[in-house]
Amino acid sequence: MPATPLVYPFTFGDRSMADLLGGKGANLSEMTRMGLPVPPGFTITTQACREFLASGVIPSSLTGEIESALRELEKMLDKKFGDPKNPLLVSVRSGAKFSMPGMMETVLNVGMTPEVAESLAKQTGDAKFAWDSYRRFIDMFGRIVCDIPPADFKKIEARILESHSVNSIQELTVDGLKALSQALIREIEAQTGKDFPTDPRQHLISSVEAVFHSWNSERAQIYRQRERIPSDLGTAVNIQSMVFGNLSDDSGTGVAFTRNPATGENGSYGDYLDRAQGEDVVAGIRNTMTLVEMNEREPKAFQELERVMSLLENHYRDLCDIEFTVERGKLWILQTRVGKRTAEAAFRVALQLVDEGKISMDEALSRISGEQLGHLMFPQFDLAGQVTEIARGIPASAGAAVGEVVFDSRRAFDLARAGHKVILVRRETSPDDLVGMVASEGILTSRGGKTSHAAVVARGMGKTAICGTESISVDERANLFTVGALTVYEGEVISIDGTSGIVYLGALPTIASPVTAYLEGKLDANSPQATPVVKAVDRILQHADASRVLRVRTNADTPEDAVRARILGAEGVGLCRTEHMFLGPRRAYVESLILAENEEAQRGIIAEMEPLQRGDFVGIMMAMSGLPVTIRLLDPPLHEFLPNIAELSAEMARAEALGEEISPRQQAVFAAVKRLHESNPMLGLRGVRLGILIPELFKMQVRALVHACLEVRKLGHNPMPEIMVPLVATQRELLYLRKTLEEEIANTLTGTGQHFDIPIGSMIETPRAAMTAGKIADHADFFSFGTNDLTQMTWAFSRDDVESSFLPRYLDLELVPFNPFESLDQDGVGLLVRIATEQARAHTSDFKIGVCGEHGGDPRSIHFFHSLHLDYVSCSPFRVPIARLESGRAVVLANMAGPASSST
Ligand code: PEP
Ligand code: MG
Repeated sequence: MPATPLVYPFTFGDRSMADLLGGKGANLSEMTRMGLPVPPGFTITTQACREFLASGVIPSSLTGEIESALRELEKMLDKKFGDPKNPLLVSVRSGAKFSMPGMMETVLNVGMTPEVAESLAKQTGDAKFAWDSYRRFIDMFGRIVCDIPPADFKKIEARILESHSVNSIQELTVDGLKALSQALIREIEAQTGKDFPTDPRQHLISSVEAVFHSWNSERAQIYRQRERIPSDLGTAVNIQSMVFGNLSDDSGTGVAFTRNPATGENGSYGDYLDRAQGEDVVAGIRNTMTLVEMNEREPKAFQELERVMSLLENHYRDLCDIEFTVERGKLWILQTRVGKRTAEAAFRVALQLVDEGKISMDEALSRISGEQLGHLMFPQFDLAGQVTEIARGIPASAGAAVGEVVFDSRRAFDLARAGHKVILVRRETSPDDLVGMVASEGILTSRGGKTSHAAVVARGMGKTAICGTESISVDERANLFTVGALTVYEGEVISIDGTSGIVYLGALPTIASPVTAYLEGKLDANSPQATPVVKAVDRILQHADASRVLRVRTNADTPEDAVRARILGAEGVGLCRTEHMFLGPRRAYVESLILAENEEAQRGIIAEMEPLQRGDFVGIMMAMSGLPVTIRLLDPPLHEFLPNIAELSAEMARAEALGEEISPRQQAVFAAVKRLHESNPMLGLRGVRLGILIPELFKMQVRALVHACLEVRKLGHNPMPEIMVPLVATQRELLYLRKTLEEEIANTLTGTGQHFDIPIGSMIETPRAAMTAGKIADHADFFSFGTNDLTQMTWAFSRDDVESSFLPRYLDLELVPFNPFESLDQDGVGLLVRIATEQARAHTSDFKIGVCGEHGGDPRSIHFFHSLHLDYVSCSPFRVPIARLESGRAVVLANMAGPASSST
């Protein structure tokens, strides 16, 4: 026996062992423990896969371990693998730690040979079943193990169907099935240049290898990237004795959910296909029956299924998704997992489980996410005007999507890359469509149920999807679909509503979702109009607010944004980017300031700017009366206020060539543009450096702020301003500027009889500031991490350029696990945040620290900031509810993980 086994029987493990056994293996073990009807089998560990992927060969002990496990299985079932007299057949299924539905491979009916098929035909009295099972094995083995393109098999299939004058494989006779299998084998031999292997043990090992390999298939990689699943986990492989849903009329296979995964409605829900095997249901090849219909056909198996579903839901205390097979009326459970669900279902189910006493509010909060709340905030279609409904399908994944119709996944990807919004329309989707699905706004299929591949994957990704739209006829070759007399060609726009399942022609306008209406205070959660999901969001968000420690502020530059953010729950403004007030039409002031010939002219322009600035501040502080408002002094390089150098040069050259007169102002602007041009403006004259070179500018901003405070107070409100200095690198900059700012505040207040306590803080957005935060803290009343610049400067990644240049390639190659401008790079940039926080808190134990970069609204980053005990995050208004929710979740998840997880 090797030191660490690579194979475990289902009787060994439990659900806690997903790291080693994968999710499927761990759950199969758990169900075996629970005494549920699980076909026996064993799991090859993720460790074996990692060793295989690292070395390219099967680990030396693995073949022996598989052999022993197989022998145990043979004993248990009194059957023999590869023995025609009493054959044992197995399935070989992937199963990673995190569920990746349909992304990796499965080979069924391993152990099949012509001799076994012959004997199975005799044993069961059903030759068609036996030879269909053989045909299925050859088909899967060919595609998955021998890499035969599915299209090549499809061609052969079409040829055989034609020569036997039938339309589907189900209609083939035994001879037809044998002929098809033979033709597939010939194709495999032609393409591989080798004889088709006849030894079932070799089939088994090759299938295991192919499943290991499928961990790195293109679609699996894309899926992992999207779901942020680490690429080095590897997959486990489950070898399970086969039960046959294609055996007889009282056999079948299905997928069931303990509650509706699309809407969250209570009550079981699923699809059943009679005389079918394995992936037939998910592939959406034939339209399926509902569970109610299954009950009519197979009442005993259905009752047993209901019993198992209720057992599993009580055991897992969550919505479970179950794959099952009925073999001659007997139910077998092939898999279960906590089911994927839409955002709506996630909120509703969590609350139902709380109300049923199965989980606590903390657990409910841990089970939903800010991203899901974001989905519920997406707009919905406005059906008040003229709309043209063209079809209705199964509402498989909620949302409202508008886009150009596209029928091919690659094309969908290319068009989306070129900036088009597309809807992928297919008869059904297969795992190979993943790139197109990711790139599309939504997915529409004419076949398949709510558990079809398209539906499951779309729900997992939060994409709008309608499936099983039987009234449309999709012609993927001609790039069109027809519905009644109407033909819709590629490029035409449709709107699909994944909540109602309705397809509309043209682009429908959208309105706020009920959840947004509630969050914006336009819909009372206790009113009869409030939908169940609104009620669920209300209760969960209230719990998050009661749990969280982090405060949530907003980034707002206009009074409108400030008002909106406050309604959405913002507890102040964490970043008011004042430069936004001087871009656009007011840019001319800064241009004039730059061109001013002497100090007097400069003062004149600044005097004109001041009331405008004051007006902006008044509006924002009125909206945030009683809450802190952090005014960030001007940050961007001066040249951003001037015309573009290349365009201006061209214009000047043209004017000169045509002999046109160039005005003195134009000449002055051109000279200034050249003078201020910088090779690396992001590292140039900006932020605090600007305030040091043109102190009048910052002084004007401070005066405007103080006057605004006076005005707001006079109007009976409570202004609570804070001043923040951008791009500080050394404490000396802050000290130098602080004196000027404090003097200006004092001078402005002189004679007013009023006093304001205006804290002056520093942004921490240069690596030097982070490393020397303890010294900067001497002169700062607070810190706010500008994680956008801090990321840019730590990585030396230009934030304006990398996302459209090399970052996508880096992401493809997994050189970075995610975009560091979207989610904080905790190892690198996060370390600087940690160092600066530790220094500041060593300086003053309750030193106030916030975050105002984009990461302030990102769930993962919020959890990190919570772990460092920061005081607040600040994010765009729309993300405020998401940040509130995630700040609450951060507390609950840290508590659940225990004391070891919380950092100090
Ligand atoms: C930052 O750098 O994170 C920040 C908030 O400032 P800005 O994005 O305006 O540079
Ligand atoms: Mg910045």
